[in-house]
Amino acid sequence: MPEAEPVQQPIKLLRTSESESLQKIRHTTSHIMAMAVQTLFPKAQVTIGPWTETGFYYDFDSPDPFTEKDLKQIRKEMIKIINRKLPVTREEVSREEARTRITAQNEPYKLEILDSIQEPITIYHLGDRWWDLCAGPHVASTEEIDPKAIALESVAGAYWRGDETKAQLQRIYGTAWETPEQLAEYHRRKEEALKRDHRKLGKELGLFIFADAVGSGLPLWTPKGTILRSQLEDYLKQEQTKRGYLPVVTPHLAKVDLFKISGHWQNYKEDMFPMMAESEAAAAAEQGFVLKPMNCPFHIQIYQSELRSYRELPIRLAEFGTVYRYEQSGELGGLTRVRGFTVDDSHLFVTPEQLDDEFLKVVELILTVFKSLQLKNFKARLSFRDPESDKYIGSDEAWEKAQNAIRRAVEKMEMNHFEALGEAAFYGPKLDFIFEDALGREWQLGTVQVDYNLPERFELEYVAEDGSRQRPIMIHRAPFGSLERLIGILIEEYAGDFPLWLAPVQVRLLPVRPDHYEYVKEVAAKMRAAGIRAEADTNGDRLGKMVRNAEKQKIPVMSVVGDQEVTDNTLSIRTRASGELGAMAIEEVIQKLTTAIAEHGNF
Ligand SMILES: [Zn+2]
Ligand SMILES: [Zn+2]
Repeated sequence: MPEAEPVQQPIKLLRTSESESLQKIRHTTSHIMAMAVQTLFPKAQVTIGPWTETGFYYDFDSPDPFTEKDLKQIRKEMIKIINRKLPVTREEVSREEARTRITAQNEPYKLEILDSIQEPITIYHLGDRWWDLCAGPHVASTEEIDPKAIALESVAGAYWRGDETKAQLQRIYGTAWETPEQLAEYHRRKEEALKRDHRKLGKELGLFIFADAVGSGLPLWTPKGTILRSQLEDYLKQEQTKRGYLPVVTPHLAKVDLFKISGHWQNYKEDMFPMMAESEAAAAAEQGFVLKPMNCPFHIQIYQSELRSYRELPIRLAEFGTVYRYEQSGELGGLTRVRGFTVDDSHLFVTPEQLDDEFLKVVELILTVFKSLQLKNFKARLSFRDPESDKYIGSDEAWEKAQNAIRRAVEKMEMNHFEALGEAAFYGPKLDFIFEDALGREWQLGTVQVDYNLPERFELEYVAEDGSRQRPIMIHRAPFGSLERLIGILIEEYAGDFPLWLAPVQVRLLPVRPDHYEYVKEVAAKMRAAGIRAEADTNGDRLGKMVRNAEKQKIPVMSVVGDQEVTDNTLSIRTRASGELGAMAIEEVIQKLTTAIAEHGNF
């Protein structure tokens, strides 16, 4: 009997915020690093050194730039400190005492930090020669840190207090884990994340570009990326049509006045592109146009264009609406943060009696969409109001009703969820879908928001059954959130290997010799006529190169065509999902492909 293979448990990596043990390890390791840096570079001054979700960093003011070589030296010094088994001790001191000690050390940044922290002022000592202000927590002795479970990762520039007018500092990033196995798993995931990076894959697969002449944060979609986008849009539109949504299209800009009524101009101006005004006088009078940061006020205008009756409600207006937000250029990166993006937006205008049911239907739609995209690992955050605070508008009763509608919906759909008190917007509670990807990273996808505010601001009404005028409630919802971000996430989640129905090119035919060109062109045309995105590779490359190209492009189905296939009128099929499928009649291939595409399945 063969020996049983030991069952490999996947190594789970917790985020720092999820584990007190990791908080202690990372806090302590960051101090050990700071001590090592100050031992090797006595002129270096320490500033702040917090943990991050996957490690820690410390910012230093040092005259010499740290190099890769320095990092190695620092790590060596850290191991020495660890091996000295230094006790980590907490000391509570008065503000005056802390000031005296810091002044003696000549650490100006620490003095600033001291001024910004609250009592109790605590100092943590590593042994008896190094200390820093810190609130903890830490391990009891440096020997609790496993030298094989720590790594220094990189150096980057940073500004004191994140303010570019202040001193430029050097930030050393590191990570620390409980075991060397966890560190190895973390490194594996980091490497995998680099391979899957949507900026890199997006370029390799030819999905989108950025152009200096256009501006940062403004992606341009190439034909392949546009096909991918359209597939997602078409699919969601179909699902929405089934559920009674009505399509609308609205402009990309509007008068500032519209956003004054909605309140965006007063509260959201910083995130909007500056106003376009015809003259200085117009600008001074705030008479001009702005690019829309949100679609809601436009859909409201459509609702308001007629007197609505309770019989018409719920009204569900849907648009793939492109919005523009003036993100800081430092925050832009790939598709996950952009300045122009398309929201799969919809606004539902409902009576209070309809809220529960409509909310549930929205959640059902979102779950259907996620299932189709094979996004399985997500949880729902119920962002509710803080019952202690009075910043919220709307009656207690309305809030209770809305929060209960959300609660009931997630319970009915048996979703993994948690409540976050105080996370609601001032105008209503919301439900956010947080997706965890293959590498354990979290992304926020869709949102559903209940809103009492905009109906009030725009004085929305409907005629109720008894003839009275009543105010509808709005639900804002976007299953994808933003198409751009969703595609960024999907590229990384699938590692570029799109499911058949989404793949920009679904089939590529590879002729062995030029005398097979005519056949492959004919077959590709037949497939396209049947709605399959097929192409023939007739660039004149040798077969080996054609195969490699098709693999690199991660095309789900490829077929090498030679004499045999031409004679028999067949195709020998090889798919990424199922491997070699052998020879099949062309009609059979087309039929199987069409079915798999329609069902969002594999071939
Ligand atoms: Zn600390
Ligand atoms: Zn909205």
